Amino acid sequence: MKKTYLLAPGPTPIPESVTAALSGPLIHHRTPAFQAILDDVRAGLRHIFQTRQDVLLLSTSGTGGMEAALTNLFSPSDEVIYINAGKFGERWGKIAKAYGLTPIEVKVPNGETLEIRQLEEKIKQHPAVKAVLFQASETSTGVKLPTQEICKVTKAANILSVCDAITACGVFDLPMDEWGIDVLITGSQKALMIPPGLAMIALSEKAWAAVEKATLPRFYFDLLREKKAAAKSTTAWTPPISLIQGLQESLRMIKEEGLHNVFKRHELLARATRAGVQALGLEIFARKPSPALTAVKVPSGIKDGKLIPKTMRDKYGVTIAGGQDELEGKIFRLSHFGYADRFDVTTALSALELTLHDLGHPVEFGKGVGAALRTFSEG
Ligand SMILES: *Cc1c(COP(=O)(O)O)cnc(C)c1O
Repeated sequence: MKKTYLLAPGPTPIPESVTAALSGPLIHHRTPAFQAILDDVRAGLRHIFQTRQDVLLLSTSGTGGMEAALTNLFSPSDEVIYINAGKFGERWGKIAKAYGLTPIEVKVPNGETLEIRQLEEKIKQHPAVKAVLFQASETSTGVKLPTQEICKVTKAANILSVCDAITACGVFDLPMDEWGIDVLITGSQKALMIPPGLAMIALSEKAWAAVEKATLPRFYFDLLREKKAAAKSTTAWTPPISLIQGLQESLRMIKEEGLHNVFKRHELLARATRAGVQALGLEIFARKPSPALTAVKVPSGIKDGKLIPKTMRDKYGVTIAGGQDELEGKIFRLSHFGYADRFDVTTALSALELTLHDLGHPVEFGKGVGAALRTFSEG
């Protein structure tokens, strides 16, 4: 027997009561019983998105939500700025290109965050630009981006802000209506504590006006059609019924804890993780770290950095994430959002201490864990 722990930034662990809800009896989706669940879920999502707008459910992983945003908002060759602070920012550019848009990149070096001036200059150079596409939390580098400032700039320029909040929504404060985020997207397998398979998306009035004019082809991910279905407490197509039953329970848990307490918990877990890692003499990769996850530089003494996540998983049963592409072997990422609490942080740090020792890196056992515990005891 080997006990395993899922501490990667998606998919994240599922609470026991959610697992029970997921495996409940299947009901038909065109019934009053399912409509009641859907209405409850939509209200819960509006609470988490902090919006009065409808939150639409799409049967797809998060990337499908990103794609739906672009195909519904734009017309061929439209100019869009995308902030490339890592893999997911880069993905905005790739989707835009695939659909014949004109993507304009704002490149942010890995581990850095956006300088708002960079964005202002790019908008000045491209007066026809329609929108800024970005991540609130860039999961590949562990960086938090300045969403509120980005939205101030897009508002001043009268263009749309399209925010991939897949490791941000339900992790830290991101009030859609208050900050004027025009499109907010999240995915089920991150902070919402259910398996992959659902994307959620909400649009501002301004974004809906753009949808009316946009001409890119779309069929399955037709947001106007979904909006009409939502008004009748249903979905356009057969939804992943079981996932929505699970989501009802995870949203109930979030509401019970209180959204702002959820944010505070994530903030505390992030602080404790950073304190633990730094107490071990390791360096945080992100200049402005996201509360969702902590990206850590592989210490120079360890020649093959890929061995850190591999050893943690294969020897100790703790699944974390390594770096992707050019960051492979250079960083590793510890997740602490969703169904995560204090002892997930100490478990990750314990396995990390053993792993570093195994790989010949000098470790004083308990140093990282101790720093995390001190953070917890101080609150
Ligand atoms: C996980 C994630 C996605 C979506 O990835 P899928 O594999 O399609 O669910 C998109 N953006 C960010 C920032 C993510 O963390």
